[in-house]
Parts: sequence; structure tokens; C-alpha cells
Amino acid sequence: MRHSYDYIVAGAGCAGLSLLWYVLDSPLQETRILLVDHDLSPQPKKTWCFWGNDSLPFQHIADRSWDRMAVGFPDRWVEEDLGHNVYHCVRSEAYHEHVMERVRAHSNVTLLEADIDGLYDTAGGAVVEAGGHSYAARHVFQSCFVSPYDRAQPVHYPLRQHFGGWEIETATAAFNPDVVTLMDFDTAQHGATVFYYILPFSPTRALVEYTVFSPDPWDRARYDAAIHRYIRQLTDAPYEVIRREYGVIPMEERPRHQRYGQHITSIGTVGGITKPTTGYTFQRVHEHTHQLVRTMLADGRPDPVAVTSPRYRFYDLLLLRILHEHPQWGRPIFHRLFAYNSIDRVLSFIGEDTHLGQDMRIFSRLPYGPFLKAIAPNLPLMPRVLFPEEPDAQVPKPTTTSSSPTAAVTS
Ligand SMILES: Cc1cc2nc3c(=O)[nH]c(=O)nc-3n(C[C@H](O)[C@H](O)[C@H](O)COP(=O)(O)OP(=O)(O)OC[C@H]3O[C@@H](n4cnc5c(N)ncnc54)[C@H](O)[C@@H]3O)c2cc1C
Repeated sequence: MRHSYDYIVAGAGCAGLSLLWYVLDSPLQETRILLVDHDLSPQPKKTWCFWGNDSLPFQHIADRSWDRMAVGFPDRWVEEDLGHNVYHCVRSEAYHEHVMERVRAHSNVTLLEADIDGLYDTAGGAVVEAGGHSYAARHVFQSCFVSPYDRAQPVHYPLRQHFGGWEIETATAAFNPDVVTLMDFDTAQHGATVFYYILPFSPTRALVEYTVFSPDPWDRARYDAAIHRYIRQLTDAPYEVIRREYGVIPMEERPRHQRYGQHITSIGTVGGITKPTTGYTFQRVHEHTHQLVRTMLADGRPDPVAVTSPRYRFYDLLLLRILHEHPQWGRPIFHRLFAYNSIDRVLSFIGEDTHLGQDMRIFSRLPYGPFLKAIAPNLPLMPRVLFPEEPDAQVPKPTTTSSSPTAAVTS
């Protein structure tokens, strides 16, 4: 088959746009590229937060950045300056605009708004079926579907992070815009791990989010009721809801692989880039896609790139089992974590930016019992989870092309 494109980017969310950004910033910028999504207009759907030192990509388009943070429990409230880390918030529409500005300067990038119905390998490339047409390329990057190989693997801890958030404007000052509330656990746990999160943009504007770690998402009305209750605890001021966001992020132990097909690479959440115990993805997506582009330059093809190490996969595996099998331990573990470590150190730990000695100090203060008990039952899962091997997948052309190739994206 003749390839009309060198690369197709299927899905123009965080990962697709990030990949495109780095390709257009590289010697590959003149290649023929097709970008496909249902909707290529900027959407105020998400606020992406991430943290690190002062050299993070896209921090300059942050709507707001904070260097002070709080965590809460029924018996204590901790508020601290961050040391090494700054916490940034980028709005999805601003991110989209920023990347599309670069895209518009490249006439070799074709934009297509269409539903993607199928992806499959061909002899020397891959095909994307979208809007009733077939588009061929040497390689496809996709962030829309969990791969057939991954869907066929078992899941032992089918947890999800599910949440609802309201961005509100209050009639009078209600928030301290200098302090992000990362987790406020001073709320009923409902047999799960449950907390509130506040991003204060100004004294009168904030995103207030209610987050649950449990297997099944709730009805939106249930998040809404919890958010309203919490806002009423914070302030009596009348308020208006400016924007709502809801999400479901996978927290399962089952690894997701990057090799969807011989010539199809999964990126973003469907490519396993989301950290399962926190749902944080934005920063890792950028590391991943940047690294992919480097491998394309070095090796002539995008080889899978690990964004995390077996050490952190091990910690995540233990915590996922605890949160799934013994959810009553969720809040006490976070309580101890923040009682004995600065918030800044915890951010570095969950951002996978600590060394082994620091990790040992952190674990030495956590309740040992649940972690030790989680090791033995996880032993059979460890080879697959800690050292995932990329499948030698070849995705054939489906016999009928009308059905979707895979389950829908989960976030
Ligand atoms: C509300 C919300 C808030 C979040 N906040 C944070 C945060 O603060 N920090 C953080 O690190 N992570 C956060 N995450 C997690 C993660 O960063 C996001 O989900 C991120 O958008 C994942 O990027 P992605 O490219 O994998 O998926 P997406 O950004 O969802 O992109 C997938 C794209 O594919 C398109 N698509 C899917 N199926 C089809 C199809 N069949 N046909 C055509 N197009 C299709 C979609 O339209 C979409 O544009 C959040 C997630 C949610 C849901």
C-alpha cells in the first residue's frame, strides 16, 4: 500500500499533541503527518497539574503556579512551603492552542476531524480508518484505544480514580490563592479512599474536586452533592459553577504496553503512561513522547521507552493491592506519609524523583503490616508488572470494518 503519510497521530489530547510538539521541534518536522480526532477545537475539559523543578516543559503556559501546599485529616491540617517543587496548572484549551500554533506553521501537517473506527498493520506500515476512509502511514501513534493484547490480560486490582470537580466563582473572598489543597481526607471514606482537592486561582475562584479510589465510578449527582457540601463547609458566600469536570482514570496493576501493533505505538493513558497510584500523567506524557522522538531520530523507528523503573512499579503494586483489598488502610497510610515527611518530599516520591535511601526512610515510617502482607500475594504478578515485555503484536485488518477495534479510552 502506498503511504500517504509518514506518521498519523490518532487522538489529539495530551499525548497526541505532545508527540506532535516534539516531532515538529525535531529534524522530523518536514515529514508528512496526519492528526485525527473527533474534535480538533480547544476544549476547556481538563486542568492538568504537574510539578518539579524550574525546567519543566509547558510550565510557562501555566494558568497558575504554587509553591505552598496543604493536606488535611480529621485530626490535623498541614500547610507548608514547597522546597524543590513548584506545582503548576495548565488548562487543556491553553495547551491545545499553544501546540496548534506550532502545527499551523507546518503545511505538511494535515488536520482531520473524524471518528476513528479502526487501526491495523500492513506490510510496511499501518492504517487508520476514520470517517469512512482509510489513511495509510509508515507509523501510527494512537491514544484512543486500549490495545487488543492488553485487553486480553487479567486484572487483579480493578481500581479506578474517579472524580468530579466544580470550578466556582464566589461572591466574596473564600480561598487563599497561595495554597493548593492537595488532599483533604477530612470526609467520610465510604469503604474507599476519598479526599477533596482545591486549586485556588484567586480569592473568589477555585476548582474544588472530590476524588474516590474504588473499583466503580459513581453517578455524577453523588460527586456534585459532596462538592456542594464541602464548599458550604469552606464558605457561606453565594457561588456560581463556571465549569464542571468529571473523570475516570485507571488504577489497575495490569501493565499497558506501548506496542499496539508492529507499526502502531500507544501513547498516553492507553500506552500505560499514567501512574496507577496517583493518576498523574501530564509530566510523564512529555517525558515519554520526547524520548520516543529521540529514538525515532537515533534508530529510525519509535522503540518503546520505559517511563518508570521496576522499583516504583513495585511500590505501586503493593499500594494498589492494599487500596483494593483493604481500603480502610488508605487514609491511615496517607496520614503517616504526611506526618513524617514534608509535602515537598512526598511530591518528589510520587513524582518518582527520589533515591532508594530516601524511599527507605519514607517506608520506615509507614504502617509496616499492610505493606509486608501485600508482598507474598503479589509475587506471582511481579514478573509481568515489574518487568513488562512488549508484545510482538501484529494487528490484522478486520474482516468487517464497521466496528470499533477496541474498548473506549478510559479517561
Ligand atoms: C478531568 C481530568 C483531569 C485530569 N487532571 C490531571 C492532572 O491534573 N494531572 C495529570 O498529570 N493528569 C491528569 N489527568 C490524567 C491525564 O493527564 C489525562 O487524562 C490526559 O488527558 C491523558 O492524555 P491522553 O492523550 O492519553 O488522553 P486524552 O487527553 O483523553 O486524549 C485522547 C484523545 O483521543 C480522542 N479520541 C478518543 N477516541 C477517539 C475516536 N474513536 N475517534 C476520534 N478521536 C478519539 C479524544 O477526543 C481525545 O482528544 C486528568 C484526567 C481527567 C479525565
